[in-house]
Amino acid sequence: MTNTAWHAHRERVDRMATAVAGSEGRVRLRKPTSNLFRPRQDNARTGIDAAALNHVIGVDPSARVAEVEGMTTYADLVDATLPYGLAPAVVPELKSITVGGATTGVGIESSGFRYGLVHDTVEELDVLVADGRVLTCSRTQRPDLFYGFPNSYGSLGYAPRVRLRLIPVTPCVRLEHTRFAEPEALFAAIGSECSQPQCAYLDGVYFGPGEFVLTRAHFVDTLPAGAEVSDYTWMRPYWKSLRQRREDYLTVHDYLWRWDTDWFWCSKNVGAHLAPVRLLLGRKRLSSVTYQKIMRASHRWPLSLLQSVRPRTESVIQDVDIPIANAAAFLADFETAIGIRPVWICPFVVPERGFSLFSLRTDTPYINFGFWDMVRSAEPDGHYNAVVEELVVRHGGKKSLYSRNTYAESVFWQNYDREAYQALKRECDPDGRFPGLYEKTVQRQ
Ligand SMILES: Cc1cc2nc3c(=O)[nH]c(=O)nc-3n(C[C@H](O)[C@H](O)[C@H](O)COP(=O)(O)OP(=O)(O)OC[C@H]3O[C@@H](n4cnc5c(N)ncnc54)[C@H](O)[C@@H]3O)c2cc1C
Repeated sequence: MTNTAWHAHRERVDRMATAVAGSEGRVRLRKPTSNLFRPRQDNARTGIDAAALNHVIGVDPSARVAEVEGMTTYADLVDATLPYGLAPAVVPELKSITVGGATTGVGIESSGFRYGLVHDTVEELDVLVADGRVLTCSRTQRPDLFYGFPNSYGSLGYAPRVRLRLIPVTPCVRLEHTRFAEPEALFAAIGSECSQPQCAYLDGVYFGPGEFVLTRAHFVDTLPAGAEVSDYTWMRPYWKSLRQRREDYLTVHDYLWRWDTDWFWCSKNVGAHLAPVRLLLGRKRLSSVTYQKIMRASHRWPLSLLQSVRPRTESVIQDVDIPIANAAAFLADFETAIGIRPVWICPFVVPERGFSLFSLRTDTPYINFGFWDMVRSAEPDGHYNAVVEELVVRHGGKKSLYSRNTYAESVFWQNYDREAYQALKRECDPDGRFPGLYEKTVQRQ
């Protein structure tokens, strides 16, 4: 890592710290992309511009770490590490997710069954707090802030720099897709991979009752004779291949972004599953960034005519984490109460306790269930999201806060440790210049 890169980084942070300290009223950040799935306030004019903090400061191949600015997207970070035969230990699969967003927002992916969540792979970070101070924290330096930052969603401060752990990767991966009819058999197979990992990456999909696919990805240096890598970046959606193939090969780059092209399978909501639409959009525009833009436009200009003739729906976009022993029962209840399909199944372990605002058990693997769709509804708006919250509590789990949340304040703080949060808030933001966690994630302030 060069001195020039560090110097330029410090200048960018100083500029932002001065802007934060000198601003009046509520501090809001302005960023060009977001994967939040609740309408955000428009900070286009008033927010403090964080976009410049988007550089990979350096990659240290011998220590296997990357020093990265908070607004750097994982797409840019992966491009910087792959030439060294390295990748971040956990790479959230939407290209526009940023390192800071994933650290504060509990990022996850299919290496979680080995390494945990994104914040488990963070070694150190800086937090720019409301009065313009930059607080460095790690497991040994200001540990309360280090362990309290994940799931704080920018309500304590902004991370201008994160040091992340890297792992060695090979140019290609071999995928093995195994079908299961019974959830118990699927979760047993996942449980044994979590206790004795054999593959490099592990995730699965629930397509409907009796139809599960578990995908194990293995690192390979070279392809066997006659094998070719598949391409799911344009006309062929990756998720369809899971039901059609038993084995497949991808470059490691394409594996890491396999879900981005179709936003898992959600591209069908904007017609991008249709061949002519895919042809017209082309490779570049088939990406989570395009779908985000469409989603944000639909928040700004609701298609009122269409909405008046369509049946009423509620958007249920959630990722929830359930201890593996309760996973089959959760899924059965979910199928009855919500019924969204497909559902993404991503196992992860919890290597370390102590992340106060997202505390999980260390004695069990968890299953992250991801479901993102509209549910037909004759109920008051928010009903189905509240049902999801009840199911998560009933099955001993925890819910990510990136999307809609309906918790009453007392229930919310039973789940997310009010005392630890208030202590951190007093240290980082005593005057409440950043919105509080409950206000921001539930009341959408
Ligand atoms: C449909 C959908 C599917 C998803 N699936 C997955 C998934 O499979 N795996 C996964 O890991 N995640 C998933 N996510 C969630 C995503 O990782 C989180 O929402 C994450 O916080 C987004 O990061 P971002 O960089 O886009 O930040 P944003 O969406 O812009 O911001 C998220 C929050 O973090 C705060 N924030 C952003 N940057 C920083 C920073 N540097 N310091 C402090 N606070 C900051 C913002 O203020 C905001 O409150 C999904 C989201 C959606 C909408």
